[in-house]
Amino acid sequence: MTTTPAPTTAPTTAPTAAAGAAPVVEAHDLRMRYGSTDVLRGVDLEIRRGEIFALLGPNGAGKTTTVEILEGFRQRSAGEVRVLGTDPARADDAWRGRIGLVLQSWRDHRRWQVAELLTHFATYYPDPRDPAELLDLVGLTHQARQRVDRLSGGQRRRVDVALGIIGRPELLFLDEPTTGFDPEARRDFHDLIERLARTEGVTILLTTHDLAEAERLADRIAMLVDGRIRACGTPTELGRRAAAQAEVRWTAPDGRPRHERTSDPSGLVWELHQETAGPIADLEVRRPTLEDTYLHMVHRQATDTADTDGTDGTDDGAHRTGFPAGADTGEAAA
Ligand code: ADP
Repeated sequence: MTTTPAPTTAPTTAPTAAAGAAPVVEAHDLRMRYGSTDVLRGVDLEIRRGEIFALLGPNGAGKTTTVEILEGFRQRSAGEVRVLGTDPARADDAWRGRIGLVLQSWRDHRRWQVAELLTHFATYYPDPRDPAELLDLVGLTHQARQRVDRLSGGQRRRVDVALGIIGRPELLFLDEPTTGFDPEARRDFHDLIERLARTEGVTILLTTHDLAEAERLADRIAMLVDGRIRACGTPTELGRRAAAQAEVRWTAPDGRPRHERTSDPSGLVWELHQETAGPIADLEVRRPTLEDTYLHMVHRQATDTADTDGTDGTDDGAHRTGFPAGADTGEAAA
């Protein structure tokens, strides 16, 4: 895969320039059809500046397709899309310089030292981050002189992120960022993502099928199921929205364990309290969670619709380089 970037033709826009203005990502009635299979069936999305937004969905739901359309790597079948105010299908190098992709860009430079690699890639942007500061930001200062191919998987992923943000993107796409991470690396990575959004104002679109990750990181989550956004909101809102009701468990006065589902747990507890005229033994109230909502959506899709997965065709999307288009190839490009 070609990974060497070309110079951008215009400077990146300061993230604060349009704060509070138009959404960073807007999609309306986005549709994608592969052959005779409708994979996206009218996706509506709005992502605000500075948000960490998670697109959640089971495998095959259309997350990658959606993201690649937003990145400008795939041509949609229909619908309106604006990313940073521009239709990605007609975007130019200047636009490309404003978005960040996290790809395995080190692969073509595996024998390079980390600092060397960052310094090299920095030359492709008009206003790059300082490589030393970037190393610090992604927690790789101690690995600066280490060869990329001698890093751990988690450290390499940090290199990928470093390369994704070196040009100061306003919008960063993260596709399944922590797959294969151990818990500690995952936590560190989450801290990094939060820092980027909270202190640098980078808008982040994260795709994942890891509920815990979405819940931990995202300001808002959209659940993509069967080619449509079935729910969108903060993790708490989505949990509350669960069609699954709260579950109340207790031990009855005769010693038998009991449980009941209810949309009014406090009412039920009040009734029990009246009945027992005393403490309710082993009382537990479990509120519906994000996971309940998610599983409900996915289950509903599985039972409501026939399986419409198309064949695993070849990738007809544009070549992904992760950097502004028009790149030269090879390590020697400068
Ligand atoms: P996700 O990222 O949520 O796992 P994808 O967007 O990768 O989902 O895929 C959604 C569906 O579209 C899958 O059924 C997949 O097989 C199909 N698909 C993806 N890319 C292509 C393609 N280039 N040609 C044909 N079908 C595709």
